Amino acid sequence: MVAVIGLGNMGMAMLGRLVGPGTPPRAHDLDAGKRAAAAALGAEVPDTLAGAVGEVIVLSLPSEAATAAVLAPLLSVLPPGAVVADTSTLSPVAVRGFAEQAAARGCAYLDAPVSGGAAGAAAGTLAMMVGGDAAALAAARPVLDRLATRIVHIGGSGAGQVAKLVNNLMVATNLVVAGEALRLGVRAGVPPEALLPVINGATGRSAATEVNWPRWIASGTFDSGFTAGLMRKDVRLALGLAEAVGAPLDATARAAAAWDGLAAAVPDDADFNRLAAAILDGATP
Ligand code: NAD
Repeated sequence: MVAVIGLGNMGMAMLGRLVGPGTPPRAHDLDAGKRAAAAALGAEVPDTLAGAVGEVIVLSLPSEAATAAVLAPLLSVLPPGAVVADTSTLSPVAVRGFAEQAAARGCAYLDAPVSGGAAGAAAGTLAMMVGGDAAALAAARPVLDRLATRIVHIGGSGAGQVAKLVNNLMVATNLVVAGEALRLGVRAGVPPEALLPVINGATGRSAATEVNWPRWIASGTFDSGFTAGLMRKDVRLALGLAEAVGAPLDATARAAAAWDGLAAAVPDDADFNRLAAAILDGATP
């Protein structure tokens, strides 16, 4: 039996990968509307969190506080040997605590953050970076293989989150850099639509120019399913990690500061790609 807890942009899409022939997955969210949508998808929706038990539990939650609020009551009802695969992006320190809590109850907790967005979650093509016990990962693998095409066991507890924070610090920085550099082009008389075809075949390219710009910025759709607020959380977590381990950040810290500095122009509930668009349009932190 599988359960998914946290049915937002990512969790609901992952749940969609797990419904189908066979025993329906269980699903839970604080939001009654999300629970109703999960039931309409074909999931079993118990009345309480305590009913959302199984051998593999997938979490997709917005903060450390939310995972903490779910994990403690869940561990008191999970069968021994159950594996909690937490796909949320959280601090490596926090997830090590969660793994110890799970081990004390005879269960396993894997940090299993993902990249690929809501579209990747819906298609089952996420990249998953896992920290924790290899045997627990092997046990959860049949479920996780339905969510992700690339699952990499990075190392012990917390290592998956380190990989995810390094990745997202690059994403956050690359968006700021792309916005600023393309603005330079505009001011010098060459617009993004003339620059990007050549840059995307040259060495200045990044996912920001190859994927984000055409799909969500130039198209004007801004519907990636990832909010600026969640990216701000990830940037804060990456800066906190850098401080904790004594890794100096200079260029990335300046780019990271743009995320908070432009909070008025790009509020937390806006699509995260709006930040690059605002910078292109002249916003400065
Ligand atoms: P979201 O805000 O859309 O969804 C979070 C869901 O969790 C909401 O439905 C909320 O009601 C629910 N929730 C909050 N507290 C809860 C609790 N105590 N019990 C049960 N449900 C609770 O967020 P999202 O975009 O789906 O992201 C989820 C996680 O995945 C975050 O940690 C995010 O950083 C990470 N992530 C998101 C993306 C993306 O593209 N959206 C990509 C990779 C990783």
